[in-house]
Amino acid sequence: MLSQELDIAVEKASADQLQPKPDQNNLGFGQFFTDHMFAMQWNREKGWHEARIQSYRQLQLDPAAMVLHYGQAIFEGMKAYRSKDGRILLFRPLDNFSRMSQSALRMCMPRLPEEQVLKALRALLYLDQEWVPHAEGATLYIRPTMIATERMLGLRPAEEYLFYIISCPVGAYYSSGFNPTKIFIEDFYVRSVPGGVGDAKTAGNYAASLKAQMNAQKKGYNQVLWLDAIEHKYIEEVGTSNIFFVIDDVLVTPPLQGSILPGITRDSVIQLAKDCGMAVDERRVSIDEIITACENGTLTESFGTGTAAAIAPVGEFCYKDTSYTINNGSTGPIAQKLYDQLQAIQFGAQEDTHGWVVPVS
Ligand code: PMP
Repeated sequence: MLSQELDIAVEKASADQLQPKPDQNNLGFGQFFTDHMFAMQWNREKGWHEARIQSYRQLQLDPAAMVLHYGQAIFEGMKAYRSKDGRILLFRPLDNFSRMSQSALRMCMPRLPEEQVLKALRALLYLDQEWVPHAEGATLYIRPTMIATERMLGLRPAEEYLFYIISCPVGAYYSSGFNPTKIFIEDFYVRSVPGGVGDAKTAGNYAASLKAQMNAQKKGYNQVLWLDAIEHKYIEEVGTSNIFFVIDDVLVTPPLQGSILPGITRDSVIQLAKDCGMAVDERRVSIDEIITACENGTLTESFGTGTAAAIAPVGEFCYKDTSYTINNGSTGPIAQKLYDQLQAIQFGAQEDTHGWVVPVS
């Protein structure tokens, strides 16, 4: 079933179905959606079928659709970038689709025909090419999603699914320069547990994180840094990003042991750091080590990595009511260098020696 050639029907949006075009310089995040979407269904008998590109529209969902009750919902987040010479570029798209297949496996949902879905995405973006922003630093954020649609009450894996891709133009994350974040280290709520679903990009993980996120924001912090669920001691990840520290000139990040999302930006940053000769250590790192390294000055930088921001420098941590400032609250040279390199590759301004960039046309 996986190698099946998807027959993609294309039905262009009619004039009255076209979405109003937003102001390119005031896009924000996740508010405007393009004219078209890709969708296909799955059932046991036909596998993936009815693949089509159609106008962006509301879904028809039965109130008993299993996703609404038992939460089989997974998604991805990726971007299309416009290069200076006008090309549209995707960054490691097959890594997103293979991560989605891994999420599907964990949630007892069907695997994606990954190459075929990439073909569909390219066709979709070709049709919606005018929606890929030209404004400096702005991008098209792409949201592949899979949900259980079978109409049934009773706990078991659903036998019918919908996969779709929608996308939205988003503004430059740092329109007025880097703005290091303030991070609240959460020592009560946890994001995921060993043996749980922390390494799957499944909707429930995000719902479960909201309470701690709201508490942190009320206290004036941007994001939550999660600790492990057993000892509340080891660093996991921060908000919707992976986390890095520079300690004694070594780039340190928690290992992929099943409780954090295997970030594609994380993987890319590790590679770029190694390319410039930097030592990288994927290992467990405790909050006590971080506090000590903050106090004795060996921790010189910290930053989050993720598709939305690429790199988000951390300026301050709060742990048990004490604040720790990092690099005087400003962006460090390593975060800056990795950010510049990554963005240059993503926007097609620097040679891509890793085969990460996939042009749309
Ligand atoms: N962790 C979580 C929980 C996330 O939601 C994300 C965003 N997908 C990341 C890390 C970073 O992953 P990526 O670099 O692939 O965007």
